[in-house]
Amino acid sequence: MAKSAAFVHSLCRPIKLIFSKETTDFTTSETNKVLEKASQLLPTLCDNRGSQISVKHNLLLTMADGKVCNALTGTLSSQKCYICGATPKLMNGELKDVVVKKKHYSLGLSTLHAWIRSFECMLHICYCLDIKKWQAKSDIEKASVKQRSEEVRQKFKNQMGLIIDTPKPGYGNSNDGNTARRFFMNPDLSGGITGLDINLIKNFSILLRTLSSGYDINCNKFENLCSKTRTLYLNLYSWYYMPVTVHKILVHSTEVIRTCILPIGQLSEESQEARNKDCRRFPRKQSRIATNIDLLHMLLIISDPVINSLRKVPKKRTDKLPVEVLNLIVQPSILSKVPRQVTCDHDGKDYVVSDSDESNSDD
Ligand SMILES: [Zn+2]
Repeated sequence: MAKSAAFVHSLCRPIKLIFSKETTDFTTSETNKVLEKASQLLPTLCDNRGSQISVKHNLLLTMADGKVCNALTGTLSSQKCYICGATPKLMNGELKDVVVKKKHYSLGLSTLHAWIRSFECMLHICYCLDIKKWQAKSDIEKASVKQRSEEVRQKFKNQMGLIIDTPKPGYGNSNDGNTARRFFMNPDLSGGITGLDINLIKNFSILLRTLSSGYDINCNKFENLCSKTRTLYLNLYSWYYMPVTVHKILVHSTEVIRTCILPIGQLSEESQEARNKDCRRFPRKQSRIATNIDLLHMLLIISDPVINSLRKVPKKRTDKLPVEVLNLIVQPSILSKVPRQVTCDHDGKDYVVSDSDESNSDD
């Protein structure tokens, strides 16, 4: 699990393909089936130079998207927080009467979607800046929002080369993780285009980069910045109800991080989302049957641990973390310089795992 997102992504193995409508009942029953199977897993026994290690397997459901989280927690509205039950009208209030369900912390934070939803929140505040209302109701208000959104979209295209808020043929719209990252990486430029407070964009940028860094986070410092950012948001734009994902980051993220056994950035749904590209890229575009056969074959081949270990993973460009982010993360401890070699017994066969395998790790 200490591998990078890219490496985990290449090991994201398909286990089931079902043609069915994604309803709440269906999601719940399928999740329970997987949890039940996972609970029956036997420990993997390893021999590390004579010491016996038994590895227990524990399934963490942190790659779930918002829709799945809502289904699993019985939250009927997608605008309601599945941790504390706050509705849009309560989001910007003091949150005194909400009841926090701590067991829902285990669903993680969906850090990739956090980037996209925070970016969209900034955009929508910007569109409504002239009317200062959450929703445009009258024709005049609607025209104002439309005009502002068109101007801002054009500016993003001209000044940053970004196509935003535009439907993509076949799937979703153009607001993806990369667009959101570009927006938050340049707070001065983004602030200039949108007319939003630069400090607010900067704070979001620091919080999001810290969350997805993959390192342990200093919870007290992080909590402090979340709280400052929420106050700043409410001072500036209290008329715009905070979207649930932004609320989750600013209000609940520190507690979620505290209960996680791994750095939150390593539990991102990014690796699963990256599979969406493969799902479009691999199959023949013929019949449904041929398409699905191709897809499953390719996913099984490239996620095979042995085949995967032979694959050269391209070096990914890693951005240097700014000092504000470094200030919020805990310095990683160096475990040992001696190369480790562990023999694992799996399915009756012995596998040798050594440190050199981790060269696939690239961020
Ligand atoms: Zn909440």
